[in-house]
Amino acid sequence: MFEVKLDDEEGRIRALERLEILDTDEDSAFENVATLVRQVFRMPMSGVSLIDRRRHWFKARRGIGEQEFARELSFCSRTIDQSSALLISDARTDSLYADHPFVVGEPNIVSYAGVPLTTPDGYNIGSLCVMGTSPRDFTPDEVDILSSFARILIDSIELRQTASSDVLTGTMNRRAWMMRAKSELRRAARYGHPASLAILDIDKFKSVNDAWGHPAGDIVIAALANLTMDMVRDSDLFGRLGGEEFALLMPETSQEQAAILAERLRSSFEHLPLDIKKGAPIACTVSIGVTTVGGEDDTLEEMLERADQALYRAKRDGRNRVVFSDE
Ligand code: GH3
Ligand code: MG
Ligand code: MG
Repeated sequence: MFEVKLDDEEGRIRALERLEILDTDEDSAFENVATLVRQVFRMPMSGVSLIDRRRHWFKARRGIGEQEFARELSFCSRTIDQSSALLISDARTDSLYADHPFVVGEPNIVSYAGVPLTTPDGYNIGSLCVMGTSPRDFTPDEVDILSSFARILIDSIELRQTASSDVLTGTMNRRAWMMRAKSELRRAARYGHPASLAILDIDKFKSVNDAWGHPAGDIVIAALANLTMDMVRDSDLFGRLGGEEFALLMPETSQEQAAILAERLRSSFEHLPLDIKKGAPIACTVSIGVTTVGGEDDTLEEMLERADQALYRAKRDGRNRVVFSDE
């Protein structure tokens, strides 16, 4: 097994954010597991919790009212401080929990069992837990069952991630990018913040494939993806739209700032030695179409359309250049 990192709160928060699961809608895998553990344990309450910086948030819950509350109140927040299960047989006689508001008041928790949800890179992002209103012991077999269910949840979180990433480049695939870009644009519109969009398309890529073969073409595609990921901000959304075409949504970025970045990308790619034929590095270029949010009701589709037209002009005017949409 991998090592659990218990003393890296910043890393843990980043791991949680990477999974993009906080504040998401109901998901049948989580609902089913919450239902099953409640039945198996014959206890009235169960939940899949995620522990944010200052907040306990239930991804799924059974028999529990509130979906979220302050982290200080969370039993699960204690569970994630350890690498194994947290078991409480009778909270009323446990000096740590006897005065807890959830013990002396609603929902009157007396017994609790929680196992951490540990990501493959070793961060406890939350917990799978069951709770009851009467005292109860937990057997090692029961802890095993809870742990197995927790692994199922982590696997399903992982699977979702895999389904949204492009195999060749490790970037988001088109579907995932469109989904995230839409919600990012909604956020920008809500707050009246700027955002810019770039579409990148490798120049004369067919001839790269023809001259050096398809695997060499793949190396060139991956090289552009890696270069871009190295150069953009963590908050930028980068995805592969298909073939040798990528999209980059830059929140909080004006047209001027987007111009500077796009030009740096274009120039860096032009000068990036691509060693696809041993000892004889070749050079490739990329054309970039850029547009910026036009107003509150500007849609992603409209922005893509404008960036695409700008890209078309970049190709027509000789390639290896950055062109802006007219608006
Ligand atoms: P332009 O400068 O106008 O963009 O010319 P281009 O040759 O790049 O034109 P186009 O965009 O039409 O060509 C894209 C080519 O990319 C066609 C397709 O065979 C190839 N391609 C698409 N996906 C992949 C891939 O995953 N790997 C490789 N190696 N080639 C791909
Ligand atoms: Mg092309
Ligand atoms: Mg293309």
